Amino acid sequence: MLIYQCLNKYNIVESTKLKNISNLVSFDTVENKVVSKSNIEIIIENNLIVEVGIKLASADKIIDCGNKLVTPGFVDPHTHPVFVNSRDEEFSRRLAGESYESIASDGGGIISSIQSVRDATESDLISRVKERMDSFLKLGTTTIEAKSGYGLDTENELKSLSVLKKVQDNHLIDIVPTFMGAHTFPEEFKNDSDGYVQLICDQMIPAVAKQNIALFNDVFCEEGYFSTEQARRILETGKKYGLRPRLHADEFLSSGAAELAAEVKAFSADHLMAVSENGIKKMAENNIIAILLPGTTFSLGKTSFAPYNSLRSAGIDIAIATDFNPGSCFIKSMPFIISLCCIYLKMPIYEAIKASTYTAAKSLGLENEIGSIEKEKKADLIIWNIKDASQIPSHFLDNPISKVMKNGELLFTA
Ligand SMILES: [Zn+2]
Repeated sequence: MLIYQCLNKYNIVESTKLKNISNLVSFDTVENKVVSKSNIEIIIENNLIVEVGIKLASADKIIDCGNKLVTPGFVDPHTHPVFVNSRDEEFSRRLAGESYESIASDGGGIISSIQSVRDATESDLISRVKERMDSFLKLGTTTIEAKSGYGLDTENELKSLSVLKKVQDNHLIDIVPTFMGAHTFPEEFKNDSDGYVQLICDQMIPAVAKQNIALFNDVFCEEGYFSTEQARRILETGKKYGLRPRLHADEFLSSGAAELAAEVKAFSADHLMAVSENGIKKMAENNIIAILLPGTTFSLGKTSFAPYNSLRSAGIDIAIATDFNPGSCFIKSMPFIISLCCIYLKMPIYEAIKASTYTAAKSLGLENEIGSIEKEKKADLIIWNIKDASQIPSHFLDNPISKVMKNGELLFTA
C-alpha cells in the first residue's frame, strides 16, 4: 500500500516487459499490412506501449508469454447488448423452418425485445450488460461498439445509453456508444412510420446530443424498416447534432442503403449480404468501410454470406464484428467470427486479424489509439494458448486465449 502511495505521490512510472513471444502478429501502419515477427519483446508504461523490438532493456515487471502468439486486443465494431433476455424461442422456430422475416412480421423479432427493456429498471439492465461485457473481455475484446435500440422512445433510448455509460464507468472494457432509435418502428407508430422518424429527429437526437452519451447514430435501412429517404433524414439530422453516421445496409435485400452510406459519408456500412454492384462502387469511391457480420448469416442458417471478394477487389476496407444481439446472433467470440470469415468468406487469416483489430478501430475513428501493437498505442493485447495465427480458425471450440491485457493490466492469469 505504501509503495502505491509513493508511486502515486512521485508519479513514478512502472514498466512492464512482455517476453518469450512465439509470434507477434499485428497490423503495421508503416508497412501498411499485417506482419508476423519473431523474437519480439514489448515494453509497456502505464497503459501505453512504449517500445516494440528485439532484446529490449529490462523492466520493473516481466511477463513471460510462454512462447505463444500475441496479437492486439479485438475491437468489436457492431453489437446490440442492451436487452433483457435473448429470444431463444425464435431460434427454435427458425430451426422448424420459419424465416427471420416471417417471425418478425408475426410480432417477433426486434419489436418483441422492446417491452421488456421498457419495463426493466436501469440497474437490472446495468447488471445484465456488465455480465455480457465480462464475457466479451474474456474472449479478447478490449473495445466494443454498443448500440441502444430496444427502447424506441425518448425515455428508454436515453435509459439504454445511460446503462452503457454507467457500465463503461465501472468496467475495464472500452465501450463506444451508438444511438439506434431507428432500429425498427415501435407498436405505437406501426401505421405512422414518418411520425416516428419525426420523433427521432425532433426529440430523441437533440436529447441524446444534449446528454452527450452517444458518438454514433445508426439506422436499420432495409425494406420493411427505414426507407433510404427516412434513413437520410435521420442521419443528416444526427450529423447536425454531432452524431456520426453508420448504417445497417442491404442485409436482406438491396435497397440502396450502401449508396446512402456513401452519400452521407458514413463511418461504416454493415451487413451488406445483398449489396448491389453500384453500392459497392459508391462505397469504394467514398472510402466507406464495410463491416461484415458472418455470425448472423450463420446463426440464421443462411448460406449467402456478404460478398467479401467483390468488396475487397473494389478496394474497400473491411472490418468484422459479432453483431451480438438477442435475436439473430448470440455470438460474443471474435475468434469464432474469424473462423467463420476464414471458412465461409475465404478470408485469409491475416486479413481477418486486420479486420477485427485495425480496420475495426478505424470504423470507430480510433485507429490512432488502438487496433495494433505499435509505439504510443494503448496496451490492449491478447496472449494466446497457440503459437501461430494460422491456428486460430481451426481452434474455435475451445477458447484459444490465455490472457488478456487491457490498458496495461493483465487479466485472467491462470
Ligand atoms: Zn446490428
